[in-house]
Amino acid sequence: QPEIGVLALQGDVREHVHALEAAGARPVLVRRPSEVEAVDAIVLPGGESTTIVRLARTFDVLEPLRARIAGGMPAYGSCAGMILLADRILDGVEGQETVGGLDVTVRRNAFGRQVDSFEADVDFTGVEGPDVHAVFIRAPWVEETGPGAQPLARVRGGEADGRIVAVRGGPTGALLATSFHPELTGDLRVHALFVDLVRDSASDRAEGPVNR
Ligand code: GLN
Repeated sequence: QPEIGVLALQGDVREHVHALEAAGARPVLVRRPSEVEAVDAIVLPGGESTTIVRLARTFDVLEPLRARIAGGMPAYGSCAGMILLADRILDGVEGQETVGGLDVTVRRNAFGRQVDSFEADVDFTGVEGPDVHAVFIRAPWVEETGPGAQPLARVRGGEADGRIVAVRGGPTGALLATSFHPELTGDLRVHALFVDLVRDSASDRAEGPVNR
């Protein structure tokens, strides 16, 4: 069972812990640099991205997270977590930093005031079966993907038609991000996809770069 950290500074940490457990991983809370070093992968929860990044600095985990993610550690971010994984953000607060690693530009609070929160079904590449029921809460969208990231899901219909709300990318393809919160719906398929990705990246490491 891979040991997957959940960054536990602010946000819906408990919901991710439950979803990871149910998807067959061993979740652990991460608040210290040594804990960032110890885990096989990390989840950056939904919450408030400016608060999380500020606390990450205060707790000295921002640089360790950046280094491990740049080194290929798998990470999954939902909502605020997506903002944290993005290399570039729009509509952030002045000087808002991110962890980065994902070659995307993310627009914060993108869906606007009238539709602060809404739900929609999305067709999610890599998730088998029916559409994923997506819960958006003051959510970002991906304004643009660079060559290092691929869209996995888009909004269908309405004013935001075609906007990207799930992506995969990163140095080893092991970074996953969603604008919405699968941890709130009981549908474990997105977490299961991430757990699979963590297992694949562990077996890649075991095989080593030479024998491939
Ligand atoms: N609007 C929040 C932010 O900017 C994200 C909202 C969420 O995670 N539900 O961080």
